[in-house]
Amino acid sequence: MTKSDGSNLSSEQLDGLRTKLQGKVVVKGQSPEDEYRPLIERWNRLHVKEANVIVLPETEEDVSTTIKFVAEHNLDVSISCGRHTYSGPSSGYGLIIDLRQMRKVTVDAEKKIAIAQGGCLAGEVEHAAEAKGLRVVMGAINATGIGGITTGGGISNLSAQYGLVADNVVAARVALADGRILVASETENSDLFWGIRGGGSNFGIVTEFTFKLHDCPHEVYSGMLMFTPDKIDKVIGLLNTIHLDYVLKSNGKFAINGIFMMHGGILMPGFLAYYDGPEEEGKKFIQPLLDLGPLTPPSHMAMQPHTSTTDWEKISKLMTPGHDRICGVSTQIDWPISEEVFKNALEQYQAKIAKHPEALKASMLIVDLRDYTKIASIPVDATAYANRRTGMLFGVDFIWNDESLDKEMMLEARDYIEKVRGAVKESNKQRGLADTGSHVGATTLYALLTDGQEKLVSVFGGNLPRMKKLKAKYDPNLMWDKWYPVDPDFSN
Ligand SMILES: Cc1cc2nc3c(=O)[nH]c(=O)nc-3n(C[C@H](O)[C@H](O)[C@H](O)COP(=O)(O)OP(=O)(O)OC[C@H]3O[C@@H](n4cnc5c(N)ncnc54)[C@H](O)[C@@H]3O)c2cc1C
Repeated sequence: MTKSDGSNLSSEQLDGLRTKLQGKVVVKGQSPEDEYRPLIERWNRLHVKEANVIVLPETEEDVSTTIKFVAEHNLDVSISCGRHTYSGPSSGYGLIIDLRQMRKVTVDAEKKIAIAQGGCLAGEVEHAAEAKGLRVVMGAINATGIGGITTGGGISNLSAQYGLVADNVVAARVALADGRILVASETENSDLFWGIRGGGSNFGIVTEFTFKLHDCPHEVYSGMLMFTPDKIDKVIGLLNTIHLDYVLKSNGKFAINGIFMMHGGILMPGFLAYYDGPEEEGKKFIQPLLDLGPLTPPSHMAMQPHTSTTDWEKISKLMTPGHDRICGVSTQIDWPISEEVFKNALEQYQAKIAKHPEALKASMLIVDLRDYTKIASIPVDATAYANRRTGMLFGVDFIWNDESLDKEMMLEARDYIEKVRGAVKESNKQRGLADTGSHVGATTLYALLTDGQEKLVSVFGGNLPRMKKLKAKYDPNLMWDKWYPVDPDFSN
């Protein structure tokens, strides 16, 4: 049955919901505009949608009551936490359950755990942990919501040591499509626990996560090194060396991302580096880059608290302001990467930009040189997350600001990444790189860096059949249909 967008809900029905909640119900056209508009804003303005109803629950019971209301009225529903997706599943025209009022974090320093409500931003958990001399695994920026990054996987500068964000969840509380709230852990509802670690929002709303924390007795050495465009070839020539001879030999302590960023029509290479230890040690790991003569002085690398390395306010200053319509797509390239394939990918990227020089002047390409061995050491079927490979994550952001270009730019981004994938596949075939060892069954797709258009099997790989069975058990009527929703399998 087609879902309703909630526009036909009567004032009595909405007031009825209000009386049952501690939190707020904001309604398009009825609530003040200055209250409504900010609630539909998204990091990626491509996905700003005028939802008819936005519920801001304050408690787990509020979440449960709202879910029952959604089921009763067969409403289209989206879940929103940090509102930082590329593909827009937290937006919708129906009812949004916006978790921003549920942001309490409690740290138990003795047990080394943090209990965080499902609407927290990554930085809030990071700061709470750091205040007790501990560290939590989150992504590269503190503004992403823990809801999206954890249920989708979550890759971090700490992943080489501690795995995915999802690998650091020890328990969760999940509000299901029938309004029940279940504990999910290795010992309770373990199938649900399996599903929420990589299966996204397919099974319900996580109202609370319990994360493992790690000791953090020191500051870290981190910063950005930029290079002039004439050094692009030399930078490409260093990628295998940096990954194989430095990253892989650092015991997981050295994490580095390459960024090829458009600046005034020119592609500038750079690196965001992180060393989990003292400056003297860290400097040895960035030596090949220092030898290349960075544009930014090495003083841009500095000792700092871990939380400062994920500070989005600071990092976002590197971006061109005012460009906020983004199509991000990605693939993985096995190590050692083929320089030829990489150069070609960069040239094709520049060719795409050259077609729309003004519109795409703030775009960028990100290559992750970090060590995924720890992530890939966990069997692919241990959690729903299927991308347990050790390749280089190759992500491209097409960024523009003119709404009329939306369709064209999305087609350009998709066309581009398909070409790169084709070239990588062909090169792998020629080099005899096969799905062996820990790569067996692992997908090449990082589903949190996509435009939402990928095939389900590319996202969940061999875990798809189990996902479908779980869907039948926990969401048989497809209430949660926004982020790679799988179809339920009711067979025995
Ligand atoms: C600038 C930027 C940097 C990024 N860096 C990284 C990085 O370093 N590492 C990385 O792995 N990813 C990174 N990402 C990707 C990011 O992790 C995902 O986009 C993630 O989905 C964002 O989560 P959110 O809660 O902010 O998003 P939202 O848009 O609020 O939600 C995203 C999805 O998660 C679901 N969801 C949200 N909360 C819950 C919940 N409590 N329970 C169940 N489902 C929920 C929603 O239904 C939706 O499908 C980055 C994204 C951006 C924009």
